[in-house]
Order: sequence, then C-alpha cells, then structure tokens
Amino acid sequence: MTEPSGGIRFIKGIGEQRARALEKLGIFTLYDLVSYFPRDYQDRSAVKTLDAVADGEAACVRALVISSPVLSRVRKGMELVKFRIADSGGAANVTYFNQSYVKNSIKRGETYSFYGKFTKSGGRLEILNPVFEKEGAEGESTGRIVPIYRLTEGISQKVLSRAIAQGLTVAGEELLRETLPPGVRDKYGLIDVKKAYNDIHFPASMAEAEKARERLVFEELFVLACALGSMKLREREKAARRISQVDMDEFYGSLPFALTGAQKRAIGQAVADMASGRAMNRLVQGDVGSGKTVVAAACAWAAFKSGFQTAFMAPTELLADQHHATFIKLLSPLGIKTVLLKGGMTASRRREACGLLESGEAHLAVGTHALLSEGVRFKSLALAITDEQHRFGVRQRAALSEKAERPHVLVMSATPIPRTLALIIYGDLDVSIINELPPGRRKVETYAVGEDMRGRINNFIRRLVGEGRQVYVVCPMIEENEAVDLQSATELYLKLKNEVFPDFKVALLHGKMKAAEKEAAMSSFISGETNILVSTTVIEVGVDVPNAALMVVENAERFGLSQLHQLRGRVGRGAYKSYCVLFKGSGGEAASARLEAMTKLSDGFKIAEEDLKIRGPGDFFGSRQHGLPELKIADLGSSLDVLSWAQAEAEELLSRDPELSGFPALKDRVARLFDAKLS
Ligand code: ADP
Ligand code: MG
Repeated sequence: MTEPSGGIRFIKGIGEQRARALEKLGIFTLYDLVSYFPRDYQDRSAVKTLDAVADGEAACVRALVISSPVLSRVRKGMELVKFRIADSGGAANVTYFNQSYVKNSIKRGETYSFYGKFTKSGGRLEILNPVFEKEGAEGESTGRIVPIYRLTEGISQKVLSRAIAQGLTVAGEELLRETLPPGVRDKYGLIDVKKAYNDIHFPASMAEAEKARERLVFEELFVLACALGSMKLREREKAARRISQVDMDEFYGSLPFALTGAQKRAIGQAVADMASGRAMNRLVQGDVGSGKTVVAAACAWAAFKSGFQTAFMAPTELLADQHHATFIKLLSPLGIKTVLLKGGMTASRRREACGLLESGEAHLAVGTHALLSEGVRFKSLALAITDEQHRFGVRQRAALSEKAERPHVLVMSATPIPRTLALIIYGDLDVSIINELPPGRRKVETYAVGEDMRGRINNFIRRLVGEGRQVYVVCPMIEENEAVDLQSATELYLKLKNEVFPDFKVALLHGKMKAAEKEAAMSSFISGETNILVSTTVIEVGVDVPNAALMVVENAERFGLSQLHQLRGRVGRGAYKSYCVLFKGSGGEAASARLEAMTKLSDGFKIAEEDLKIRGPGDFFGSRQHGLPELKIADLGSSLDVLSWAQAEAEELLSRDPELSGFPALKDRVARLFDAKLS
C-alpha cells in the first residue's frame, strides 16, 4: 500500500515535535494514524436541558450566558472564572479553575454548548471546567460522540482526533482498501472498510461504533489467520529427511505400561509426518500428567530406527536431568545412547557428550538451551523436540532447528490453551491433543483455605508424611522482586524445619541455588529421603515424583489458575490419593472466587478458559517473545468466537487461493503484518 507522500507530517497541525510524540504511540505512518483506534467514547450527542441534569452526571447542554464572566484570584496561583448560564429548563453556575482565557472567550448574551460534569447541592446546579463550543460552531467537542484515545505527553485528545479526521480524508482509496472477500462480509454482516474506519473514530451512534468495531476486529483476526495460514503452507512445502514408516509395536512392547489411545494417536500423527518427506511441525498439547514424554521417546525411537539423531530441549536443568533419566530407562534397552547437555557441566563431561553426538555414537541429546551453543554439533540430526514450549521463545525453537538441515520439529506443551489460541501462538504448527489421562489417575482433592487452617494443615502434613508420602510447599515468585521471594521461601523453610517439623527432613529448592545444590535437593526428594520440599515455582513444570501426595501453595492468590493447575499437577501422579491446599494470603472476593474455582475444576482446558476469562490472554500474549504482531483492536481473550470464524474463513480462502492472488489488498496487509513483525 502506498503512503500518500509525507505521511503524518503532512497533516495540518502535526509539526516535527508532535510527530515525534505520535511515534511514542506507535504512529509513524498515515496508516498507523487512521488505525490508532479509540479506547473509549464519551457520548456527548444528547443535548439536555438544565432541569434534566442529575447530580454527578456528565452531560451536554446548550445554554445562554446570562452574566459576564468574572475573573478572581482566590489564592496565590489559583484563578477562577465564574458566570451563569440558563436555558428553557433552568440555570446553572459555571466555574473554570486556572483557565483565565475563558473570561475573554465567553460573552454574555451568547449561546454555547457545554459538556462537563454537573454537581447539584442545595438546589444549586454547578458545572466545573466544561468543554464549550459557540452555537453554530458545535460538532467537534460537543453535540456528538467523542472518541477517547490513549495519549502521550504533547498530544491532546483534540489534536489527535483532528489529525485522524484529516488522515481519513487524505487516506483515500489506496490506503483503506477492502481486504475482506465480499462473501465473508455478507456472511457475517460486516460493514465496508471505509465506513468502518470512519465510524470507529467518529460514530454517529454507539451502535455504529459497535458495528465498526465488529468489522475491524474480524478483519484484524482474519488478516492474522491468513498470515499464519500461509506461513504454515510455505513450511509444509519444504522437504526434510524422510524416516521410514516404522512399526511401533516393538517400542510399545518395551514400555512398562500400555499407552492411552490419545498417546498412540499423537505418536501415529508425528511418525506419519516424519515419513511424509515434508518437515514435521507439530505441537503435542496435553494436560499435566497426560504422558507427553513417552510420545517424545517414541519419536526419538522412530528417528533412531532410520539412523537419525534427536535433540530434546527442556526449559530447566531440573527437567533436563529428569528427562535424561527417563529416556535412559525407556530407550537404552532398545539400543539408544542418550547424552545430557546442560550448563554447569564439567568441561570434560561436556566435551565427551559433544564428541559422542558429533561422531554419531550418541543418538539422543537431552538438555537445556545449552544444546543451542556453538560447539554442539550433530552427525545426523533429524528431529528437534522442545518440551514445555511456552517457556521458550520462537527464536530458541528456531535455533534448535538450525542445528540441522531442516529437522522435523516437535514441541510439547502442558499449558492447555484453547485450540483457537494454540493456532495463533503456534499458528505454523499442526496440533495433536492428548485429551486422556493414563488410567487410574484420581482427581486431586483441592482445598482453598485461610490462615486459620494452618494448624490443621500442618497436622495433615504430619499424617501424610507418617504414611510415607511426600509433600511440596510452594511459595510464589514475583519477578520484580526475587530477593523478597527468596526470603519468604527461605523463612518458611527454616520455620518448617526448625519449629514445625523438626523430626522430618525438610529441604529447600530455589532458582538461585547452584546447579549442584539444586540437583542434590531434587535427587534427595526423588529418592524419598526428603519428606517436605519447600520451593519457589522452579518445580512448576514437568517434575515427576509419584510418591508426592500433597501440594501446599502459599499465597495462592498470586498465581494464575493455569499456573496453579501446573503446580497441582506435581501430585496425583502415582497410586496415592493426592491433595492440594491453596493458602489465601490476601486479596478480596475475586481472589477467593478464583481459588474456589480451583477446588471444583480439574480439566486443564476448562481451567485455561476460565483463566482467560478472568485475566485475559496476557499470559500467553504478554511477552512479545512469541513474535506475534501486536493487535490494534482485537482482544484475543474476548474475541475467541470471532477468532475461530476468522480462522475458518482464512483456511477456506487459502485452500482456494493459497497465494491470495485474487485478493491483492489482503495480500498486502498480510505482507505488512510480517514486515512489522520482523522490524
Ligand atoms: P506430562 O505430560 O506432564 O509430561 P509425563 O510424560 O511426565 O507427563 O508422564 C506422567 C507420568 O505418567 C509419568 O510417570 C509416566 O511414566 C506416566 N505415564 C505416561 N503414560 C502412561 C500410561 N499410558 N500409563 C501409565 N502411566 C503413564
Ligand atoms: Mg512433561
């Protein structure tokens, strides 16, 4: 799309200084300007008479000035301008603070429109600092619906809305081309592009504003879906190493348990992808404890059978250690040699691991992002797996893929987000969902409690430990203040160890400990030697100790529901009846309601949806690490329906016209989206 020459600097009233201020709002081009949407509106369209105005109401009136404005200085530095107005319904006092220019702009005997907040006391009506426009010159700040924009210093609402109004006039055909196929617009009753841009800024009614918003939200999600969809199509075209379609029975037969149908389905899909000759790009999404690790192991085995290596990347050293042990258990009987690569290894062990990978003697590398470092080279890497994908950025995932010529990519996530959102975050991936837990899992009984229950919970801990079970106690972590968090975890640890449970073995685990200390703390818990593990959220994902039967969360109100669900997923992994206790430290009713919700919900997908409703998708979209473009008007949390319609339409369109050649305006917008993303 071509910018009319000069962009925003050619807008009247926008000089260099204001242009720079606008840049702070992300407005660089004319298109940015007209797509800088209001965050709210003030309805000043209805003109009331003075007798109809209520106390505290913001209203618009048209009234005659019946006394000359009088300027007075009350205190040092405070100036008042006062006068009276009247209309057919009554009269009111008008007061301006520190706006002495008003004295000369308002004339007795003339009629103005005023908009502002009225107060009524003892029958006297008063309006403070109202916006005013002279009769006959109304229509910008009064007598209509006024858009309210997010501002920055040096830019007022008026300056911005004037600039946008001008922008809309000069934008013309080129800039605001219709991107929605006519069929789609008709189907969803969406208004056309010109009217939408006009009405979102300057609606004649709130209903018009709503229609405009509907269209623009749909359009934004549609363009995003088209962009992600065409990226996916392009990915698909690329060839990758073909593994042979293996018979999985040998692998299945070696397992200590029978796989669930969902696990087999995911494995089947992944193996078929890898045998297709095209690069696999698949997300395996499954609730906590659904058994994703074995899916990864199956894929590594399939790659191994065709003579290829696999890299498996975990987000923490703790998890890397644990997976390393799991893979050795599952895969070494089948002839697979696994090596571990993480930070904090001795140079010689690291050299040894690297050597084995480079020579091809090792078939599987398990590790942290240490896998990504320069020195790590593979002889024949064909499959790159990332666990707990949401912990990594798109870039890290890509870096792992770069270790080989187009490896197959499998990512696993326990953050169960609704499918529509998964398609956005992982838009370029195919998705397998493991919607079934291994048999015999029992629901984790969950309680939301207050401090008054402390004694009883301690007794409960004592009883469970007496029965041989183990307990997690988790303290929250706020990133801005790690020191305070560590202190709270450390304090609680000392208290439990020295005062409450001197006869039990209590251990502490937090992210700031040295790797060897962490390892020692964790392995003593895994071995069952430690009874109670006090930790920060470092144990949030993936940790698997089946003998742990109680999760106690301190200050649970500070966690999101999905995070609580992850934590709760650390227990109930074995044969024992398991419990989760959520201590509410502070927070009002809303916090209580959230924790109460946790006691009833056990399905991670439902919880994620609830979380989205309560907190919005900030968690998933807050960090820009996903590399998604910023949305201007759609809110993914509240637009889930629209998102799924837009996705369906985008998919349909791309299947007919994968290059979007019949839709040049749309194609342009899609291209711009990626440009913006890369910048
Ligand atoms: P997650 O999906 O959270 O990564 P894991 O892969 O860690 O789950 O599996 C959780 C636990 O369930 C592990 O102890 C694993 O051995 C066990 N498990 C996995 N699949 C099955 C199955 N089909 N039957 C029984 N146990 C299973
Ligand atoms: Mg896992």
